[in-house]
Amino acid sequence: MLDSATRDMDVIVIGSGAAGLSAALAAHEAGAERILVAEAEGIVGGSSRLSGGLMMGAGTRYQRAQGIEDDWEALFHDYMTLNMWQVEAGVVERLTQRAGAAVEWLGDLGVEFYDQLVFGGDETKPRVHCPIGRGQAVIDVLTRHCRDRGIEIALGQRVDRLLVEDGEVTGIAVGDDTITAGSVIVASGGFGASEQKRSEYFPSVFDTGWSYYIGADGARGDAIDFTRGVNAQLTGFDRGLRLLHTDFDKMYEAYIPGWLTLINRHGHRFCNETAPYGIMDGLLKAQGDSAFAIFDHRSLVEATELGVARYKQQIPGSTKRQSPHWNLDVIDLMLKEGKVHKRDTLAELAESIHVPVGALEATVERINEFASAGEDRDYVKDPKFLEPISDGPFYAVEVRPATCCFTAFGVRIDRDAQVLDENGRVISGLYAAGEVCGGVIGPRYVGSGNSYGNCVTMGRVAGQSAAAHAH
Ligand SMILES: Cc1cc2nc3c(=O)[nH]c(=O)nc-3n(C[C@H](O)[C@H](O)[C@H](O)COP(=O)(O)OP(=O)(O)OC[C@H]3O[C@@H](n4cnc5c(N)ncnc54)[C@H](O)[C@@H]3O)c2cc1C
Repeated sequence: MLDSATRDMDVIVIGSGAAGLSAALAAHEAGAERILVAEAEGIVGGSSRLSGGLMMGAGTRYQRAQGIEDDWEALFHDYMTLNMWQVEAGVVERLTQRAGAAVEWLGDLGVEFYDQLVFGGDETKPRVHCPIGRGQAVIDVLTRHCRDRGIEIALGQRVDRLLVEDGEVTGIAVGDDTITAGSVIVASGGFGASEQKRSEYFPSVFDTGWSYYIGADGARGDAIDFTRGVNAQLTGFDRGLRLLHTDFDKMYEAYIPGWLTLINRHGHRFCNETAPYGIMDGLLKAQGDSAFAIFDHRSLVEATELGVARYKQQIPGSTKRQSPHWNLDVIDLMLKEGKVHKRDTLAELAESIHVPVGALEATVERINEFASAGEDRDYVKDPKFLEPISDGPFYAVEVRPATCCFTAFGVRIDRDAQVLDENGRVISGLYAAGEVCGGVIGPRYVGSGNSYGNCVTMGRVAGQSAAAHAH
C-alpha cells in the first residue's frame, strides 16, 4: 500500500449515492482524514435521491416506539427464506445485523422518519422506515455531513480505471488524471440506464420487450467494465426488481390496485393481486412474463370516483393519490391508442385477447361468487378488494414486469465489503457497497427497503473496512 505521505487521499469513494456517501462518512468516523467522493454526474445522489428512501431495519428505536418487537435474527430468517438461501449468507447476516443501527445512525444525523412503519414485502413485522422527504432528504443530510467534515465531493468525474500496483488497488483514473489512495470503495450503483447491459445482464427485464428504467442516468454499470482490470468476480446474473407495467407511458406504479383481477394467457387467475411487488415479479415470471388485468365498467367508474388508488398498503407521505393508470380518463385515452381491450361481452373480450372463452367466463363466475360471499377461496385476497366483473362493457389490459427499478448483478463482496476476485480471493485495497454489488439482493426482493437498507448499511461497513486498511 502507498504510505500516507506519498498518496493523495486516504480513501476514495466512487459514486455519491446513499452507499457512497454513507461509506465516506463512516470512513471519516473511523479515522480516515482525506476522503474524496468522485461522482460522474453533475449532481449528487444518483438513484438514491430519486428513490422513496424506504429502508428496512430490525430492532430499531422507531419500531419500539410503535410497540413492534423485532430483532435481526427474524429479519435474517425472513430474508433467507424468501430468497431460498440463494444469496451470500455471510453478507446478508452482516446486513441484517447492522441494518437497524444504520437506520438509527441516519436518524442521529438528522433524517426524520414517519412514525408509521410499513411492510416491505412478505415479512411478519413492519420493519420498513419511511424518511420524510424520501430519498432526496437522506441524500441532503448525508451530503451536509460530508461537507461539514471536509469530505470532498467532486462532480463530473467519471472514473474509468482503477490504479493497481503489485496486485493492490492504489487509486482511480478519470481519463489521464490519476489520484492515489490507501483504499478505494466502489459505490457507483447499477446498470439500469444502459440498455446494452440490461440486455446482457438482466435479460428477463429486457426480454419483456417493453423494458424501461426509472433510476438515475449515471447508472451505466461502469464498474462492470473498470473492475475487469482487477479480475473482480461478478455475481447475481439476471437479478434486480421488475415492476408491472401497462405500456401506457414511462411512469411507474409500484403496486397494482387491489380491485383488479389478473389472468394468465390461459384465462385463469394465478395469484393474489395484492402480492408484494418483489413477489409479483416472480409470479409473472412463472406465467411467461405477461398477464391481463380484467375489470368491468362499473369498477372502473367507482375506482375513478373514489379518487384514491386502492393499494394494499399506503406509504406515509404518498397517501390519497389516484392511480396514474387505472382510472377512466387514462383507460379511455389508451383505448384510443389500442392499448386497452373493451368489449360488450366476455366472449368478445376473450377473443380479443386470445384466451379461451370458457376459461375466462369460468374465472369471472368464480371471482363474482367470491365477491358476493366476501371470501377469496383461491388466492385469499383481502375481501375488501374483491370486485365482481358483471356489468359490461368489459376491459382487459396487458401487463408485463417491464419496469426496471434497479439492478442486482455486480461485484461479489464478503461480509467486510471487500471485493473478491474471480478465484474468490480478496482484492487488496478494493471495497464495494450498494447496487453495484451482486449476491446481496436475491431472486425475491425483500422490499421496499431492501436496496436502500443494503446501501446505507453495507456502505458503512465498506467505509469502516476501507479506513482500517488505509490506516
Ligand atoms: C424511483 C425509485 C424508487 C426507489 N425506491 C426505493 C425504496 O423506497 N427503497 C429501497 O430500498 N430501494 C428503492 N429503490 C432502489 C434504491 O433506491 C437504489 O437501488 C439505491 O438508492 C442505489 O444506491 P447506490 O448508492 O448503490 O447507487 P446510486 O444512488 O445510483 O449512486 C451511484 C452513483 O455513482 C455514480 N457513478 C456511476 N458510475 C460512475 C463512475 N464511473 N464514476 C463516478 N461516479 C459514478 C452515479 O452517477 C451515481 O450518482 C428505488 C429506486 C428508484 C429508481
